[in-house]
Amino acid sequence: MALIVQKYGGTSVANPERIRNVARRVARYKAMGHQIVVVVSAMSGETNRLIALAKEIMPEPDPRELDVMISTGEQVTIGLTALALMELGIKAKSYTGAQVKILTDAAHTKARILDIDNHNIKQDLNDGYVVVVAGFQGADEFGNTTTLGRGGSDTTGVALAATLKADECQIYTDVDGVYTTDPRVVPEARRLDKITFEEMLELASQGSKVLQIRSVEFAGKYKVKLRVLSSFEDEGDGTLITFEEANKDNNMEEPIISGIAFNRDEAKITVLGVPDTPGIAYQILGPIADANIDVDMIIQNTGADGVTDFSFTVHKNEMNKALAILRDKVQGFIKAREIIGDDRIAKVAVVGVGMRSHVGIASQMFRTLAEEGINIQMISTSEIKIAVVIEEKYMELAVRVLHKAFELEGK
Ligand code: ASP
Ligand code: MG
Repeated sequence: MALIVQKYGGTSVANPERIRNVARRVARYKAMGHQIVVVVSAMSGETNRLIALAKEIMPEPDPRELDVMISTGEQVTIGLTALALMELGIKAKSYTGAQVKILTDAAHTKARILDIDNHNIKQDLNDGYVVVVAGFQGADEFGNTTTLGRGGSDTTGVALAATLKADECQIYTDVDGVYTTDPRVVPEARRLDKITFEEMLELASQGSKVLQIRSVEFAGKYKVKLRVLSSFEDEGDGTLITFEEANKDNNMEEPIISGIAFNRDEAKITVLGVPDTPGIAYQILGPIADANIDVDMIIQNTGADGVTDFSFTVHKNEMNKALAILRDKVQGFIKAREIIGDDRIAKVAVVGVGMRSHVGIASQMFRTLAEEGINIQMISTSEIKIAVVIEEKYMELAVRVLHKAFELEGK
């Protein structure tokens, strides 16, 4: 007997028939003698619909009220899923995040899980129930409803698996695993049987939407065995996220690059002509951090004539807020010549643990882009990743040519 957490994404619970299908799979696992915790997202499109609705009333919705509202999507699906299980004669019980007591901090719309009270869930499992938990949500210490950021149901699933010491956390989605890149952009993209946790973390942070990044961080921290599978197929082992060290035996078969991620979610902010003096980076980025805005890439140019240019990227949704902070609060000190925002950029990243033992990956990437006449605006690297910012309109082309250059297509 194993304890398994199964998380189902929005497309897997998009309508009553699909919810019944989820219940049937859960029933099969239950019949094998396993204990099952099910975590569900809202029906596909529902969270977007709720956000749009809120924006019709208030263009920049108050975050606390937005959370109260957008958390309702998952509340509907837990009830429906529990009902579907009952219809199959299975004992089932649903919980919202607050009912479980998934305690989070108070950062509305992007809260972090601080603690989970697993007492009731354990009791229910021992009493033979399938427990169905709402993904994406929790409550802060005062009981205010919070949400965990878009895609946050993955994190709920992994966090529950961690606290329950589950044998496996299965993430069911509309694709049958993690691919070398998005098959909608590159039809030749290939499913990976396994991928290392570190690579998955980089891919998620660089824009792969398969798993929310926080869920991967959680899985790493608590060594949760994580598997991505299709909810539309009954066969197949999906992609296993492993903790083994790849390339340990210098296996020639191991690909150098495992995947290519991309996203259009970021915007670039450039601060032109600031004095090249100590403390400038802090003066610019301090207030941005204080406003809880995440900064991704940062570049400061070598100064000339005592002035320099400074660029960084933030989420597109936060570009205007960041620009306002710079223009209203920061410009008085830094006296920049100009502060510009550009949201027509995209980021493309190649990821692979094989980079550690191979040289020339960066130059191959840059040559491939140069041959297509694609200009690189920013570069950032880690031990297993090279990411570039380019003009948005070249994004798909860049992904396609890189996928080919690194020979990622199916053999
Ligand atoms: N329903 C939420 C969203 O659409 C959470 C999730 O699906 O993971 O982002
Ligand atoms: Mg998702």
